[in-house]
Amino acid sequence: MVKADAYGHGLLPAARALMDVTDGYALVELEGAIALRDQGIGHPILMLEGPYQADELPLFAEFDLTPVLHTMWQVEALVDACLPVRPAVYLKLNTGMNRLGFNEDEFTAALARLAAADCIASVTLMTHFADADEARGIERQLERFRIMAGSRELPVSLANSAALLRFPEAVGDWVRPGIMLYGASPFPAMQSAAELDLQPVMTLESELIAVRELAPGDTVGYGSSFIAEQAMRVGVVACGYADGYPRHAPTGTPVRIAGQLVRTLGRVSMDKICVDLSGLPSKVGVGDTATLWGGVGDMYLAADDVAAAAGTVAYELFCALAARVPVIEVS
Ligand SMILES: *Cc1c(COP(=O)(O)O)cnc(C)c1O
Repeated sequence: MVKADAYGHGLLPAARALMDVTDGYALVELEGAIALRDQGIGHPILMLEGPYQADELPLFAEFDLTPVLHTMWQVEALVDACLPVRPAVYLKLNTGMNRLGFNEDEFTAALARLAAADCIASVTLMTHFADADEARGIERQLERFRIMAGSRELPVSLANSAALLRFPEAVGDWVRPGIMLYGASPFPAMQSAAELDLQPVMTLESELIAVRELAPGDTVGYGSSFIAEQAMRVGVVACGYADGYPRHAPTGTPVRIAGQLVRTLGRVSMDKICVDLSGLPSKVGVGDTATLWGGVGDMYLAADDVAAAAGTVAYELFCALAARVPVIEVS
């Protein structure tokens, strides 16, 4: 899964890094898919929401993109387009997520329409699980899927990261791992990325650009939401919500400064975060590294832990990484 600019990691670098270990790519952005082809990538490319408009279908043909068809107008458009090379398609079945996908009767009609028109090369059936990372699991949807697929012997694609790790017996023919490729846990409340042996791909790093001493009663940042109870040292990190750091991260969100785990203080601003340096050696100061998430060894801070503190998920942190952040690729 390389949608959303490879979960914020950069589509082309991520695609290159995965090239030798993946059988294909999947995304939703047509420009992204064309960029992959322009880079000479010849793997199957699955377009997860199919064409958004019928007039995109010639590009699907030109760039050999595999559409997921989830609704009847797409089937009709494909039949009408009569593409020069018959494409492979995926049909998405709604088995309980109730976002995209055919219900049972529509699915039967879609298959019949495609068969009658003889305009496609192959059909793969797919569905997406709502609760692969939750107590409810995949049982109910898997049962629906089996009933809908019936005795048709078609290849299937079922599993996201959570299902792949938790229900390996149900993976089907094509798996669709996303978040696990980028080193965050698909179910952080149950198992951490480290417990799953997943290593972070993205490290968001900055440094301390100021340090100050507060007296009891002094406050920090907008809204003065943090009030010092005692004298303390506060560090200012050059990273804020305009870099993609979550503005809703409350006081207490973990950050590493020179490898030491500390907490944020007060509100996140556009370009800055304040952190509590109490308890750190006084030599820690301006110029020291701040790890906002990622990192290795002593510097490691799980994006999932930052996300949990901020009431979100690592997916959102990664995807929110702002364009102004300089990206350095390391291998
Ligand atoms: C994004 C996506 C995935 C990957 O989900 P992860 O939780 O990141 O593994 C799988 N399937 C579909 C249809 C998706 O849109």
